[in-house]
Amino acid sequence: MSRLLRFSRQAFDLKTLHHRRAGAPPFLSSFSNSATESAAAASEPKPPPYVPPLIGIQLTKHAGRGAFALQRIASGEVLHSARPILAHPSLSTINCVCYHCLRRLPKRGGTAEAYHTVSFCSEQCEQTSTKFYDVEKQIDWSRFHEYCRQKGLKYPLIVKRFACQVIAGNIPTDILELLQGEDLSDRAHLIKEEFALLRSTLENADIKVEKKKNNKNRDEGKGSIVDGEAEPEELLSFLTEEWYTDVLGRIRINAFRVELPVQSHEDLLSSAAATVEGEAAVGNAMYMLPSFYNHSCEPNVNIVWSNSAEGKMVALRDIEKAEEVRICYLDASMGYEARAKILYGGYGFVCDCPRCVAKE
Ligand SMILES: [Zn+2]
Ligand SMILES: [Zn+2]
Repeated sequence: MSRLLRFSRQAFDLKTLHHRRAGAPPFLSSFSNSATESAAAASEPKPPPYVPPLIGIQLTKHAGRGAFALQRIASGEVLHSARPILAHPSLSTINCVCYHCLRRLPKRGGTAEAYHTVSFCSEQCEQTSTKFYDVEKQIDWSRFHEYCRQKGLKYPLIVKRFACQVIAGNIPTDILELLQGEDLSDRAHLIKEEFALLRSTLENADIKVEKKKNNKNRDEGKGSIVDGEAEPEELLSFLTEEWYTDVLGRIRINAFRVELPVQSHEDLLSSAAATVEGEAAVGNAMYMLPSFYNHSCEPNVNIVWSNSAEGKMVALRDIEKAEEVRICYLDASMGYEARAKILYGGYGFVCDCPRCVAKE
């Protein structure tokens, strides 16, 4: 299938995302005034009211695809929520946040060992994570984590989570294919080392994954499902240097640093520890729809997190219909030179926002 076809299908999916605002719009409320409808409504749950989507993905004049307002959006309004495709805690917060959703965990009593294991914030997060965590916990990550810690690397941790999700059969190897990637050829020797470490970490673990396979029982003339164990070579066949380099390039361009508001004294301490280690974030996450937002140093939308990696895209000001919605990829308080360097060096473009045009 061509990339273009795949993109069209994805664009369609994105365009049909529906944003639900609280309460039914007045024109829908007026339909339920008749006695018969009231009686029906009492016995059957009402379907949610149709609310047209607030944004759609379209081609921009110069910057490829972008997100555009399909109707007027008021300042403070939530455009849509954003659930991560992949997330991983920062190494400095790995034992104090939920290993799945990055929510801060309450202070744990007991022994120091309690802080050396990862935990989940809820039964739901634990259940959602069962398959990939069953894979992850068979592996000794100490060397890989130490390597990332020493080199200050955060994105290989997302690749680690990605690989375990693939091995667990949760997501396809090409789930990030629609997102833009960075050309990492000038870092090839570093990538080779990271990849070799990840690959050997996984190979040494002799991972066991239960898999269902179809076993034709010819005597009875019908198929039956039996459990089996996937072969290790088969499980890791996707994990080539080419795949690693490709997904790392896409993650480097599109990952978001998840920054949760500080709510307690313990949060403050863990944030301080994270800042000392140069990670002012509880972790990093990949999102699909927000990755289509282009950049502006004067953004009209921001992603905000309240207590977990599930974010909300919020309008920073009134946005007119057909206006492009943009977020800021960096700290907007930086000066022009610093911003231009990061945007060109890290993302490969020259920003044409009014601030950059005026060199402010
Ligand atoms: Zn959680
Ligand atoms: Zn700019």
